[in-house]
Amino acid sequence: MVQILRSSEYQMLKTQTRFADAHCHLDLIKNPDQAVNDAKFNNLELIITAGVDSQSNKKTVELAKGIVFGVVGISPDNALSDGTNVEEIESMIKASRNMVGIGEVGLDLTVADKVNLNIQRDVFTKQVEIAYSMELPIVVHSRKTIDETLSIIKDHGIKNAVFHFFEGDEQQAKKIESYGYKISIPPALSSKRRRVIRAVDLESLFSETDSPVVGKTPSDVITVVTEIASLKGVSIEDAGETITKSIKDYFYI
Ligand SMILES: [Zn+2]
Repeated sequence: MVQILRSSEYQMLKTQTRFADAHCHLDLIKNPDQAVNDAKFNNLELIITAGVDSQSNKKTVELAKGIVFGVVGISPDNALSDGTNVEEIESMIKASRNMVGIGEVGLDLTVADKVNLNIQRDVFTKQVEIAYSMELPIVVHSRKTIDETLSIIKDHGIKNAVFHFFEGDEQQAKKIESYGYKISIPPALSSKRRRVIRAVDLESLFSETDSPVVGKTPSDVITVVTEIASLKGVSIEDAGETITKSIKDYFYI
Protein backbone atom coordinates (compact mmCIF):
# COMPACT_ATOMS: atom_id res chain seq x y z
CA MET A 1 0.00 0.00 0.00
CA VAL A 2 1.31 3.41 -0.95
CA GLN A 3 1.48 5.87 1.90
CA ILE A 4 2.13 9.44 0.94
CA LEU A 5 2.87 10.74 4.42
CA ARG A 6 4.49 8.47 6.95
CA SER A 7 5.27 10.77 9.84
CA SER A 8 3.15 11.61 12.87
CA GLU A 9 1.93 14.53 10.78
CA TYR A 10 0.21 11.97 8.63
CA GLN A 11 -2.00 10.73 11.48
CA MET A 12 -3.06 14.28 12.22
CA LEU A 13 -3.86 14.98 8.59
CA LYS A 14 -5.60 11.68 8.14
CA THR A 15 -8.11 12.43 10.85
CA GLN A 16 -8.68 16.05 9.93
CA THR A 17 -8.22 16.70 6.24
CA ARG A 18 -10.26 15.72 3.22
CA PHE A 19 -8.72 15.59 -0.23
CA ALA A 20 -10.04 15.21 -3.76
CA ASP A 21 -8.46 14.46 -7.13
CA ALA A 22 -10.30 16.46 -9.79
CA HIS A 23 -8.62 14.73 -12.72
CA CYS A 24 -6.99 11.36 -13.36
CA HIS A 25 -7.14 8.43 -15.76
CA LEU A 26 -7.93 5.46 -13.56
CA ASP A 27 -8.37 3.24 -16.63
CA LEU A 28 -4.65 3.68 -17.39
CA ILE A 29 -3.51 2.78 -13.87
CA LYS A 30 -2.32 -0.83 -13.62
CA ASN A 31 -4.27 -1.68 -10.49
CA PRO A 32 -7.17 0.76 -10.19
CA ASP A 33 -8.73 -1.05 -7.18
CA GLN A 34 -5.50 -0.67 -5.23
CA ALA A 35 -5.24 3.01 -6.24
CA VAL A 36 -8.79 3.63 -5.02
CA ASN A 37 -8.14 1.80 -1.74
CA ASP A 38 -4.96 3.82 -1.21
CA ALA A 39 -6.92 6.98 -1.96
CA LYS A 40 -9.52 6.10 0.69
CA PHE A 41 -6.71 5.35 3.16
CA ASN A 42 -5.24 8.78 2.41
CA ASN A 43 -8.62 10.46 3.04
CA LEU A 44 -9.50 11.27 -0.55
CA GLU A 45 -13.21 11.80 -0.59
CA LEU A 46 -13.58 11.67 -4.33
CA ILE A 47 -11.70 10.98 -7.53
CA ILE A 48 -12.79 12.18 -10.94
CA THR A 49 -11.56 9.94 -13.74
CA ALA A 50 -11.69 11.14 -17.34
CA GLY A 51 -12.10 9.33 -20.64
CA VAL A 52 -10.40 10.52 -23.82
CA ASP A 53 -11.79 8.22 -26.52
CA SER A 54 -14.55 5.70 -27.08
CA GLN A 55 -12.67 2.81 -25.46
CA SER A 56 -11.52 4.68 -22.35
CA ASN A 57 -14.99 6.20 -21.98
CA LYS A 58 -16.47 2.70 -21.68
CA LYS A 59 -13.89 1.78 -19.01
CA THR A 60 -14.60 5.07 -17.23
CA VAL A 61 -18.29 4.21 -16.92
CA GLU A 62 -17.35 0.82 -15.41
CA LEU A 63 -14.93 2.41 -12.93
CA ALA A 64 -17.34 5.12 -11.78
CA LYS A 65 -18.61 3.82 -8.45
CA GLY A 66 -18.09 4.56 -4.76
CA ILE A 67 -15.70 7.50 -4.41
CA VAL A 68 -14.91 7.36 -8.15
CA PHE A 69 -16.85 9.69 -10.43
CA GLY A 70 -16.49 9.80 -14.19
CA VAL A 71 -16.50 12.25 -17.06
CA VAL A 72 -16.51 11.10 -20.67
CA GLY A 73 -15.50 12.80 -23.88
CA ILE A 74 -13.45 12.70 -27.04
CA SER A 75 -10.19 14.60 -26.45
CA PRO A 76 -8.68 16.80 -29.20
CA ASP A 77 -5.93 14.30 -30.06
CA ASN A 78 -8.65 11.68 -30.68
CA ALA A 79 -10.99 14.00 -32.58
CA LEU A 80 -10.01 12.61 -35.97
CA SER A 81 -10.13 8.88 -35.14
CA ASP A 82 -13.02 8.96 -32.70
CA GLY A 83 -14.94 12.16 -33.41
CA THR A 84 -17.93 10.31 -34.80
CA ASN A 85 -18.47 8.65 -31.42
CA VAL A 86 -19.62 11.87 -29.80
CA GLU A 87 -23.21 10.61 -30.05
CA GLU A 88 -22.70 7.83 -27.51
CA ILE A 89 -21.58 10.24 -24.78
CA GLU A 90 -25.11 11.13 -23.74
CA SER A 91 -26.12 7.52 -23.04
CA MET A 92 -22.82 6.86 -21.23
CA ILE A 93 -23.55 9.70 -18.84
CA LYS A 94 -27.06 8.44 -18.22
CA ALA A 95 -25.67 4.95 -17.47
CA SER A 96 -24.61 5.74 -13.89
CA ARG A 97 -25.28 8.23 -11.12
CA ASN A 98 -21.50 8.52 -10.74
CA MET A 99 -21.14 10.01 -14.22
CA VAL A 100 -20.88 13.74 -13.60
CA GLY A 101 -19.76 15.57 -16.73
CA ILE A 102 -18.13 15.83 -20.13
CA GLY A 103 -14.35 15.61 -20.49
CA GLU A 104 -11.73 15.75 -21.27
CA VAL A 105 -12.53 17.85 -24.31
CA GLY A 106 -11.00 20.94 -25.86
CA LEU A 107 -8.43 22.22 -28.30
CA ASP A 108 -4.75 21.35 -28.48
CA LEU A 109 -2.46 23.32 -30.75
CA THR A 110 0.43 20.94 -30.01
CA VAL A 111 -1.30 18.11 -31.91
CA ALA A 112 -2.68 20.30 -34.73
CA ASP A 113 -0.21 18.74 -37.20
CA LYS A 114 -1.91 15.38 -36.65
CA VAL A 115 -5.48 16.50 -36.01
CA ASN A 116 -6.50 19.59 -37.94
CA LEU A 117 -7.73 22.39 -35.66
CA ASN A 118 -10.99 22.66 -37.59
CA ILE A 119 -11.75 19.02 -36.81
CA GLN A 120 -10.83 19.62 -33.16
CA ARG A 121 -13.16 22.65 -33.07
CA ASP A 122 -16.01 20.69 -34.61
CA VAL A 123 -15.73 17.77 -32.15
CA PHE A 124 -15.21 20.09 -29.16
CA THR A 125 -18.19 22.29 -30.06
CA LYS A 126 -20.49 19.29 -30.49
CA GLN A 127 -19.59 18.14 -26.99
CA VAL A 128 -20.01 21.62 -25.54
CA GLU A 129 -23.53 21.58 -27.01
CA ILE A 130 -24.26 18.24 -25.34
CA ALA A 131 -22.97 19.64 -22.03
CA TYR A 132 -25.23 22.66 -22.41
CA SER A 133 -28.32 20.65 -23.24
CA MET A 134 -27.70 18.19 -20.38
CA GLU A 135 -26.63 20.98 -17.97
CA LEU A 136 -23.33 19.22 -17.28
CA PRO A 137 -19.93 20.51 -16.15
CA ILE A 138 -17.10 20.33 -18.70
CA VAL A 139 -13.50 19.31 -18.08
CA VAL A 140 -11.44 21.30 -20.57
CA HIS A 141 -8.15 20.18 -22.10
CA SER A 142 -6.49 23.28 -23.54
CA ARG A 143 -2.95 23.53 -24.84
CA LYS A 144 -1.92 26.93 -26.21
CA THR A 145 -5.60 27.59 -26.92
CA ILE A 146 -6.96 28.98 -23.66
CA ASP A 147 -8.51 32.16 -25.09
CA GLU A 148 -10.35 30.27 -27.82
CA THR A 149 -11.60 27.38 -25.64
CA LEU A 150 -12.72 29.92 -23.06
CA SER A 151 -14.74 31.93 -25.56
CA ILE A 152 -16.34 28.78 -27.03
CA ILE A 153 -17.61 27.57 -23.65
CA LYS A 154 -18.64 31.07 -22.57
CA ASP A 155 -20.48 31.75 -25.86
CA HIS A 156 -22.35 28.46 -25.51
CA GLY A 157 -23.68 29.44 -22.10
CA ILE A 158 -21.77 26.78 -20.17
CA LYS A 159 -22.15 27.35 -16.44
CA ASN A 160 -19.51 24.99 -15.01
CA ALA A 161 -16.15 24.37 -16.67
CA VAL A 162 -12.75 23.50 -15.27
CA PHE A 163 -9.47 24.04 -17.08
CA HIS A 164 -7.61 20.85 -16.27
CA PHE A 165 -3.78 20.99 -16.06
CA PHE A 166 -3.98 24.75 -16.36
CA GLU A 167 -1.03 26.18 -18.28
CA GLY A 168 -2.14 29.77 -18.78
CA ASP A 169 -0.93 32.96 -17.15
CA GLU A 170 -2.40 35.10 -14.35
CA GLN A 171 -4.48 37.27 -16.71
CA GLN A 172 -6.10 34.23 -18.29
CA ALA A 173 -6.64 32.70 -14.87
CA LYS A 174 -8.32 35.88 -13.64
CA LYS A 175 -10.60 35.92 -16.68
CA ILE A 176 -11.57 32.27 -16.14
CA GLU A 177 -12.26 33.06 -12.49
CA SER A 178 -14.39 36.08 -13.41
CA TYR A 179 -16.66 33.77 -15.44
CA GLY A 180 -17.03 31.45 -12.45
CA TYR A 181 -14.96 28.71 -14.09
CA LYS A 182 -12.24 26.76 -12.24
CA ILE A 183 -8.49 26.26 -12.58
CA SER A 184 -7.12 22.80 -11.88
CA ILE A 185 -3.56 22.50 -10.59
CA PRO A 186 -1.44 19.41 -11.39
CA PRO A 187 1.60 18.10 -9.47
CA ALA A 188 3.94 20.02 -11.79
CA LEU A 189 4.50 23.44 -10.32
CA SER A 190 6.27 25.86 -12.62
CA SER A 191 6.91 29.42 -11.47
CA LYS A 192 4.12 30.51 -13.85
CA ARG A 193 1.70 28.13 -12.15
CA ARG A 194 2.78 29.40 -8.74
CA ARG A 195 1.93 32.96 -9.86
CA VAL A 196 -1.48 31.73 -11.03
CA ILE A 197 -2.16 30.11 -7.64
CA ARG A 198 -1.30 33.38 -5.89
CA ALA A 199 -3.39 35.47 -8.31
CA VAL A 200 -6.78 33.78 -7.88
CA ASP A 201 -8.96 32.87 -4.91
CA LEU A 202 -8.51 29.49 -3.24
CA GLU A 203 -12.17 28.86 -4.13
CA SER A 204 -11.27 28.97 -7.85
CA LEU A 205 -8.63 26.25 -7.58
CA PHE A 206 -8.99 22.49 -7.95
CA SER A 207 -6.30 19.90 -7.17
CA GLU A 208 -5.54 17.11 -9.65
CA THR A 209 -2.92 14.45 -10.36
CA ASP A 210 -3.60 13.60 -14.04
CA SER A 211 -2.29 10.20 -12.92
CA PRO A 212 -0.76 8.06 -14.21
CA VAL A 213 0.34 10.62 -16.84
CA VAL A 214 1.90 13.06 -14.34
CA GLY A 215 1.22 11.91 -10.77
CA LYS A 216 1.47 8.16 -10.12
CA THR A 217 -1.84 7.68 -8.32
CA PRO A 218 -4.72 9.90 -7.11
CA SER A 219 -3.16 9.96 -3.61
CA ASP A 220 -0.42 12.20 -5.03
CA VAL A 221 -3.00 14.99 -4.87
CA ILE A 222 -1.95 15.54 -1.25
CA THR A 223 1.32 17.05 -2.48
CA VAL A 224 -0.63 19.44 -4.73
CA VAL A 225 -2.89 20.57 -1.87
CA THR A 226 0.19 21.00 0.34
CA GLU A 227 1.80 23.29 -2.27
CA ILE A 228 -1.39 25.29 -2.78
CA ALA A 229 -1.78 25.69 1.00
CA SER A 230 1.73 27.07 1.39
CA LEU A 231 1.36 29.47 -1.56
CA LYS A 232 -2.00 30.72 -0.27
CA GLY A 233 -0.74 30.94 3.31
CA VAL A 234 -3.43 28.67 4.72
CA SER A 235 -3.25 25.35 6.57
CA ILE A 236 -3.32 22.07 4.64
CA GLU A 237 -6.56 21.28 6.46
CA ASP A 238 -8.22 24.47 5.22
CA ALA A 239 -6.93 24.05 1.67
CA GLY A 240 -8.00 20.38 1.53
CA GLU A 241 -11.40 21.18 2.97
CA THR A 242 -12.07 24.15 0.67
CA ILE A 243 -10.88 22.41 -2.51
CA THR A 244 -12.75 19.18 -1.77
CA LYS A 245 -15.96 21.11 -1.13
CA SER A 246 -15.48 23.18 -4.32
CA ILE A 247 -15.02 20.08 -6.48
CA LYS A 248 -18.02 18.31 -4.94
CA ASP A 249 -20.26 21.35 -5.33
CA TYR A 250 -19.09 22.07 -8.87
CA PHE A 251 -19.81 18.55 -10.11
CA TYR A 252 -23.05 18.33 -8.11
CA ILE A 253 -21.74 15.36 -6.13
ZN1 LIG B 1 -6.05 14.01 -18.54
